[in-house]
Amino acid sequence: MAPKTCPVCGGLVKESRGPITVEFRGERITVPDVQHRRCEGCGETFLNPAAIEATQRAAAAHVRRLRGLLQPGEILAIRESLGYSQARFEKLLRVGQKTVVRWEKGTVFQSATADQLMRLVRDVPAVADVLSGRRLKTTVTCHAGTAANVLDEDWQEELTATSRMRDQDECPALAA
Ligand SMILES: [Zn+2]
Repeated sequence: MAPKTCPVCGGLVKESRGPITVEFRGERITVPDVQHRRCEGCGETFLNPAAIEATQRAAAAHVRRLRGLLQPGEILAIRESLGYSQARFEKLLRVGQKTVVRWEKGTVFQSATADQLMRLVRDVPAVADVLSGRRLKTTVTCHAGTAANVLDEDWQEELTATSRMRDQDECPALAA
């Protein structure tokens, strides 16, 4: 419960509803409509735990929109398409415990790097196998139409061999 008397100035604290500006990971974000208590004397605002979570959620949503990051529902859908638990998805992405829980809850937004990694896992599901350490057997095709069978640690050797075989340098995938 928020106090009835302001601990800062001793003024009267009243129920209010309106915009709240929060500092969120170094950025100042204004959330338009938050139930809170405000001191009539000094203007200090007080948020209860539910309002703090709602404010965090709105601020995180704002940053996600601004940066074009995946939405909580999209993260959930990617994870469920893999059949992973939240804990297993956290291990796969090498993020801390409860991080995916917070992303899906919407109270925290993901880094651009984690966002890209999740999109990669969504679009190329075999990437989840690579990240989780399972053997990869897939085919890489370059623009010249050359295909090389790729088998995890042997991939570089195979690509080089194919490159030599074709004796051409214009394919960046094979030249790399
Ligand atoms: Zn006050």
